[in-house]
Amino acid sequence: MNELIVVALGGNALQQGKGPFDANSQLSVVRGTAKQLANLIKAGRQLAIVHGNGPQVGRIVLQNEAAKALTPAMPFDVCGAMSQGMIGYHIQQALGEEMQKAGLQARPVTLVTQVLVDARDKAFSNPTKPIGMFYSKEEADAIAEKQGFVMKEDAGRGWRRVVASPLPLEIVELDQVKALLKAGFVPITAGGGGIPVVQSGEGLVGAEAVIDKDLAAWRLAEGLGAATLVILTEVENACLHYGKPEQKTLGKLTAGEMRRYLEEGHFAAGSMGPKVEAALRFVEGGPGRRAIITRLDLAQESLDGDRGTHITA
Ligand code: ADP
Ligand code: MG
Repeated sequence: MNELIVVALGGNALQQGKGPFDANSQLSVVRGTAKQLANLIKAGRQLAIVHGNGPQVGRIVLQNEAAKALTPAMPFDVCGAMSQGMIGYHIQQALGEEMQKAGLQARPVTLVTQVLVDARDKAFSNPTKPIGMFYSKEEADAIAEKQGFVMKEDAGRGWRRVVASPLPLEIVELDQVKALLKAGFVPITAGGGGIPVVQSGEGLVGAEAVIDKDLAAWRLAEGLGAATLVILTEVENACLHYGKPEQKTLGKLTAGEMRRYLEEGHFAAGSMGPKVEAALRFVEGGPGRRAIITRLDLAQESLDGDRGTHITA
């Protein structure tokens, strides 16, 4: 069997920092990403692909809010599903082409994916993740009053709605992902961390929350019994004293060492923090596993050699 790898794609795999953020620009960035992914598959690896959606779902929410006098605004979970479809479409098209060019048999397929969270997760009583538009204090108060949203001031830039970021418990469509892998497809799944859902009686109900995509990738890797979790982002390595003169890059290290650095506070919450947390949970969850955090264009080199940050038991 080919080595099964869960790949988590960060923001830079989908859009360029400065934009423009139109469809063609997104597709052209995704084409570059698809080349990297196709190389991994060509080298004989089986992939399951997870991607972020922060800026994209933010824009969908914005469009919905701005047009709500014309057509009803969709709730946040539905916007998440839209973002999975939109991003998945571009990856599926671009990666399909690259795989065909490389003479590969397999084809990518996007799966709208729900991820179960606990309605009693402490994150729900302390929402921290800003989404959507910026408002004045007065507008924010009115929205909080009328719609019951939690509104917080965001780094001096204005007021925004904030939602919870709960822990992913289970990939609802895990069996479907397994079946796709078994049939030789390359699943694009749990996009944006998955659509958060909570159990309600017999069924599932969408939650107003955002699951961290790196933690969702850990859950997926765990559920699939993957050998390797690869988190692709903007920096080649996780670092100690990041951005300071004494900055030190981390190459190969053990989960024990990495956990100590995490506890010492070296990795920023909301960026490198969840990547390290996801990597550690994965490696600590079973024997023989490895996690890699590195730059998108170094994916292949890191898997074959020692570029990037490697965490093993
Ligand atoms: P992604 O979109 O790939 O999830 P993030 O911006 O969320 O990317 O996280 C990656 C960023 O984390 C890096 O670009 C870097 O600026 C930041 N970062 C914070 N702490 C560290 C650290 N200790 N080592 C390396 N990068 C760090
Ligand atoms: Mg991130």
